[in-house]
Amino acid sequence: MTTAPHRMHQPDNDLVDLVFGYMRDRLQYDPVPLDHPGEGERLRAHLAGLLNEHGNAPADVLKLYDHELSRAVISADSPRYLSFIPCAPTKAALLFDMVVSCASLQGISWLEAAGAIAAENQVLRLIADRAGLPEGAGGTFVSGGSAGNLSALVVARDAARRRLGVGPQARLRIAVADQVHSSVKNTFNIIGVEAFKVPTVDRRFTGEALRAALAADPHPETVIAVVGTAGTTNEGIIDDLQGLSEVTRERGLWFHVDGAYGGAGLFAPSVRERYNGIEHADSFVVDPHKWLFAPFDCAALIYREPRLAKAVHTQDAGYLDVLHHEGDEWNPTDYAYHLTRRARGLPLWFSLAVHGTQAYTEAIEAGLTLARETAQLIRETEHLELLHDPQLSAVCFRRKGWSEEQYYAWSRQLLADQVGFVTPTGWDGQTVARFAFLHPGTTMEMVREILDTMA
Ligand SMILES: *Cc1c(COP(=O)(O)O)cnc(C)c1O
Repeated sequence: MTTAPHRMHQPDNDLVDLVFGYMRDRLQYDPVPLDHPGEGERLRAHLAGLLNEHGNAPADVLKLYDHELSRAVISADSPRYLSFIPCAPTKAALLFDMVVSCASLQGISWLEAAGAIAAENQVLRLIADRAGLPEGAGGTFVSGGSAGNLSALVVARDAARRRLGVGPQARLRIAVADQVHSSVKNTFNIIGVEAFKVPTVDRRFTGEALRAALAADPHPETVIAVVGTAGTTNEGIIDDLQGLSEVTRERGLWFHVDGAYGGAGLFAPSVRERYNGIEHADSFVVDPHKWLFAPFDCAALIYREPRLAKAVHTQDAGYLDVLHHEGDEWNPTDYAYHLTRRARGLPLWFSLAVHGTQAYTEAIEAGLTLARETAQLIRETEHLELLHDPQLSAVCFRRKGWSEEQYYAWSRQLLADQVGFVTPTGWDGQTVARFAFLHPGTTMEMVREILDTMA
């Protein structure tokens, strides 16, 4: 039976009940199960023939999703998901994400979406205040830290070209340390700049090391920007933002701070001091879909002087002229490489408005406390070795005597038993174990249960 085309867009209460019923169940999982890696052959067999000419009964398709597809997705919002960087959206944020979907908000321009943009900008302002950025700072929400780093560093590059009066063929470099995120390395590749690599001091990128590296280089004038990380994804190390910002101000370099993971620490009094210097950033990225409890995909990108970004990113096309004639107050499309844009800052705005910032502070502090207590437990355990004092919520450690194979086998078994999703990571060329905490539902009991499997 084929659906008549006009029916697709008509209200359908049965479909609403079916899908809302599923969503209600999913929102109430407590705790969210980890679930499993997928097997390609099995998934393909279940999907075979589904996208046919006539469609399928909605209940059958949803059942396939529920019973097969969703079970082959490891739930990043499980409190036992401790790999990479987890996701722990608040219920308010998750629910409002559905509102954003229902409303088909086109978040490009003030003309089309002033109400949504005003609310998003309120959140950007809140974050800018925590960072100590000036009143004129502003930007937009993009899909992730990668998109934010790319959009910001293109502006850094073009601002430098203008300042130096050079064209696209000039060699330009951006100073980074080893631990810089892979997306920054990708950005360099895309925008045609080279990395100016500076060695770290105690795994931190410091102003002193940057100054020394510039002094020792025969062409320091080709270095146009500095990327500081706050904090590194693997270890949660916050670079010497104060020292780096002194050098960037002395030399007129662009200072970009990648806080995709750790930027949320600006809301946590116990670590706030480590971010000093961030107030001098020319651009700053933080991913609310990481530690500010928003659903995927949401990154805040903020510039000290948004007009510099606008000069680079505004798209020039006849059919867009109207955006700049009418309602020109704030067009998010002007501040990153995107055009069409989901108003992805709204779920965070709703959740912040409902819960207040203090709840966020406490939830972030909970992750920090978990990391400190876990570090202490590892120190006290004979067969384990702590690799660093956690600065944020990532903890790297070693099981004495284990080979790479043993770490991988252990990690697979933990997931198979649904005890935890903890993947091995690299540390100075060796394989070690790592926890990344941020889910307020993760407990020390869970951590102990996982560590006991290493005995
Ligand atoms: C996660 C992360 C990124 C990339 O962010 P996405 O949202 O995955 O694109 C960039 N930098 C750092 C430091 C990160 O932790």
